[in-house]
Amino acid sequence: MSTFQELGLNNDLLQAITDLGFTKPSEVQEKAIPILLNDETDLVALAQTGTGKTAAFGFPMLQKIDIDSRTTQGLILSPTRELCLQITNEMKQYGKYCKGLNVVAIYGGSSITDQAREVKRGAQIIVATPGRMKDMISRRLVDISKIQYSVLDEADEMLNMGFKEDITDILSHTPEDKNTWLFSATMPREVATIAKKFMHSPQEITVGNKNESTNNVSHEYYLVNSRDRYQALKRLADANPDIFSVIFCRTKRDTQKVAENLIEDGYSAGALHGDLSQNQRDLVMKSFRNQQIQMLVATDVAARGIDVDDITHVINYQLPDEIETYTHRSGRTGRAGKTGISMVIVSKSEVRKIKSIERIIKQQFEKKDIPDGMEICEVQLMSLANKIHNTEINHEIDKYLTSINTLFEDSTKDELIKKFFSVEFTRFYNYYNKSKNLNIAEGSFDRDGGREGGRGFGSKNDSTRYFINVGAKDGFDWMKLKDFLKDVLQLGRDDVFKVEVKDSFSFFNTENEVKEKVLAFFTDYKHEGRFVNVEVSENRGGGKRNDRRGGGKRDGRGGGRRDDRKNGSGNRNDRRGGGDSYSKSRRSGSDSNSSSDRPRRSDSNSNSGKPSFDRPRRSRR
Ligand code: ADP
Ligand code: MG
Repeated sequence: MSTFQELGLNNDLLQAITDLGFTKPSEVQEKAIPILLNDETDLVALAQTGTGKTAAFGFPMLQKIDIDSRTTQGLILSPTRELCLQITNEMKQYGKYCKGLNVVAIYGGSSITDQAREVKRGAQIIVATPGRMKDMISRRLVDISKIQYSVLDEADEMLNMGFKEDITDILSHTPEDKNTWLFSATMPREVATIAKKFMHSPQEITVGNKNESTNNVSHEYYLVNSRDRYQALKRLADANPDIFSVIFCRTKRDTQKVAENLIEDGYSAGALHGDLSQNQRDLVMKSFRNQQIQMLVATDVAARGIDVDDITHVINYQLPDEIETYTHRSGRTGRAGKTGISMVIVSKSEVRKIKSIERIIKQQFEKKDIPDGMEICEVQLMSLANKIHNTEINHEIDKYLTSINTLFEDSTKDELIKKFFSVEFTRFYNYYNKSKNLNIAEGSFDRDGGREGGRGFGSKNDSTRYFINVGAKDGFDWMKLKDFLKDVLQLGRDDVFKVEVKDSFSFFNTENEVKEKVLAFFTDYKHEGRFVNVEVSENRGGGKRNDRRGGGKRDGRGGGRRDDRKNGSGNRNDRRGGGDSYSKSRRSGSDSNSSSDRPRRSDSNSNSGKPSFDRPRRSRR
């Protein structure tokens, strides 16, 4: 193990390194720095995020450029604005004793003239995102014809983001004989192609195994019905009271939706995606960095720049389309020597992807169960007990102690402890008391909501499907009908599900236990002067369309109505949709989905209609 000094760095840099508090080089630094200092060579360096790659190319570049010259000699390309700023910042710190050094950041979303002015003052090093860089070149606002060192940082990410052509274009304006240093976490084929195309017999260093995610991260997956995805997410959060996490969704819309739902349900969450303004994104990132936000819901693209070190969990709310992307997601945790957990909430139809991911990351997933309600109550209770145990006493309380003591004069210590903990425990207990098991067995025969009832436990037949002779013609859509049924039958919001409204009739499900109650209630019930007839249906309400009464025909009338369009479209994808597919159901023109368990803010056990948060509320940090 060498020191920075032994690697050959000069005093200006060593002093800055001391200031930064770096005591010894990281592995990639130890390997890359001597090569880059001593050889005029191209280099491919593969190392996970958080391994100190910036300094691995930053120190040598700072040492090798001529600071007395105003010519631009170093160019660092990075995929996002956030990373660009971060690298610029690091370079400035590394070079703080290099007198006359000027490092300039070039990125989109900010004044191009200001950036051009800074470059004009003489920037020895430019750190840029490809898009803006290309723009500046074509407007002749930068001159990179004398570049000696070019760095492609996070090369895999840049290529992922479609910057291949921009990079090619930019590099065509640089001298043939420059050195190119490519840094990447993974080595997909495109990166190898780029390396071949732009580099001359590059030296190669690898830290850890290629394409392997860090061993600091353990990988877990949870198999649930699609419609239970959101509930599963909440349980994972509740089972980890000190969670500080990034939650990945596939689309911007899902990202926004999940974040909104979490916020409504009382979690400290925020959304990060490309439809937000730069300012909004900056604010969210700031709150996340300060840990005011515990759960950051993000798209893959937006999360590229996230360099927060203390992330405890990465949650794959949905798997990425490109399984390679999984490595980038999971690499957001387990940084800076810490351990982290990458969790995947997976439905039956995608579970096979887990195997492919295992091959890529060369690590095994552990299949785990979504904790049940009582486990969560216990975790919360013990977490509170530990917190109390570790709490420093605030003696401002002393002056109130007499009155408090009087109040508890007759309570034993035992009683007092029980009461005290009940304050918190009861809230979770009431919420989770009757909660369902969300796990499904690997071999079971479910297709995202095809399971009757989909409650997640018991057999296929633990719910009953009914036919009811009211429908859209009577002014119902699925949500109105569900509300109506809940009201008249005095059931909770989870007790009526798979409501499907047709033109003149509808279907819905309840658990078997309430079947007698449902049938009994509707033996003699009139709605707006008409007898409402409810019968047990043979339509299983899932994949197969064998509605006895629907006769298999689509009655796609009144296309403007949500349910008609949904049910009348004959589009199996729409019908299958579970709670996960906001975008899917939106696309089909439906605000929601009859089989979805969308968290709504109504109290699940009351008919009062009073809104309440869909979780045991509690203030967070
Ligand atoms: P990467 O680019 O590989 O993802 P970074 O260069 O962003 O990693 O470094 C990750 C973090 O580690 C940064 O906060 C950086 O300041 C810190 N770091 C880098 N090198 C060292 C070192 N030798 N000792 C301690 N911390 C370091
Ligand atoms: Mg980096």
